Amino acid sequence: MDRAGLKGLKVWVHVLGCRSNLCEGDFLTGALEARGASVSREPEGAEAAVLVTCAVTAEAERKCRQLVHRARRAVGDRGLVAVCGCWAQAADSGDARKLGVDLLVGSRGKSRLPDALEAMANRLPFDGERPFQDLRTLPPIEGWEEMPLRDTGLHTRAFVKVQDGCAHFCTYCIIPFLRGRPVSRPVENVLAEVRRLVEGGCREVVLTGIHLGTYGRDTDSSLAELIRVLSGVEGLERLRLGSLEPFSLDEALLDALEESPVFCPHLHLPLQSGDDGILSLMRRGYTAEEFARVCGAARAHLGDDLHISSDILVGFPGEDEAAFQNTLSLMHRVCLGRVHVFPFSPRPGTAAAQMPDRPAPEVRDDRAARALALGRELLEKYAESFIDRELDVLSEEPEQEGWYRGHIPHFLEARWDTEENVEPNETVRIRVRSVSGGRLEGVTL
Ligand code: SF4
Repeated sequence: MDRAGLKGLKVWVHVLGCRSNLCEGDFLTGALEARGASVSREPEGAEAAVLVTCAVTAEAERKCRQLVHRARRAVGDRGLVAVCGCWAQAADSGDARKLGVDLLVGSRGKSRLPDALEAMANRLPFDGERPFQDLRTLPPIEGWEEMPLRDTGLHTRAFVKVQDGCAHFCTYCIIPFLRGRPVSRPVENVLAEVRRLVEGGCREVVLTGIHLGTYGRDTDSSLAELIRVLSGVEGLERLRLGSLEPFSLDEALLDALEESPVFCPHLHLPLQSGDDGILSLMRRGYTAEEFARVCGAARAHLGDDLHISSDILVGFPGEDEAAFQNTLSLMHRVCLGRVHVFPFSPRPGTAAAQMPDRPAPEVRDDRAARALALGRELLEKYAESFIDRELDVLSEEPEQEGWYRGHIPHFLEARWDTEENVEPNETVRIRVRSVSGGRLEGVTL
């Protein structure tokens, strides 16, 4: 069937994995809609599916295969399944085709997907043998691949991808093999996108990347410079950083964050372990003491009430009880807030998958539960330090009638009840009365 662009084509877009994938999924949704497609988050009734995949763990890969099956069932034998992202990057094309993939796009080259999909969609519904295209065979895209976001409309927070790739090669991580070397989005492109989002009603921007701290190293710029430039955007009220490797937080960046009138006092610094031996086996590039120093410097610049959230990886090869205790005690010492705990699972293709002395699964899971319990306790303690304080909340979608919710600058969730109508994206001043499960409860002022 010949159609103008993708006019009327029902496309299911589904994203697995990290924040960068979500940004890319958002770009794809916008690009397909701009060509006339009707994009849905649900597979029912779809004629084509676009899947943004992840391969960070063996489990994530298993989910991707399941997702391809689900997409094939949803669009039927005559529909189109397009797959991009990290799993697609590593997939064998024969295997992917057998699974039901028609269009295979790697981790770079996603900006080519809408054109390729449009060309194939002209032949929908497929008759007889389905066509197959592997965009990974095209010459690679060098440098930054521009994938602008749709306007966020009234959404409070926009995630703006400014960096991709990593060359750090932590021993447990497959990402450098799948996303390639670090590349940065030019400052002027980020600035243009942030201005456009703010004009569209967005008030809060979160800069994201795979290894955000390397921003600018390939373009003669820096994250500090980017922060300075974006801090001057009229109408932008809140600026945040996504996950930042602890060793990236140098004085120049801290100065820029401190000087910014819109930077919010929250940093996500993945610790992974508090034991020097394990950190070295992980090839993280810092010691426990250095991590503690970074946290101290961050608080000296950004305030004692800075929220430092983190990721912890437990059950790494060689982790004994003493090493795990070092992690717990460092979590305490640096007063972490929200903590995400990941039980180690070997990712084929990484150095850690070959390492000896892996703790037994029950030991690993017990440590994960203990780290999680400590994380909850620390978050509660941190949140309690806000009781009786007056704070601005940027309102989000209400959770139930009469109750509103949003986040304070320190990235703790807050809820409050009021008889007044509050629209999403309004700044509301509250006084915190109590805390429950790391969430603040307050009254409007
Ligand atoms: S810094 Fe380490 S964990 Fe982060 S993407 Fe690079 S290799 Fe993976």
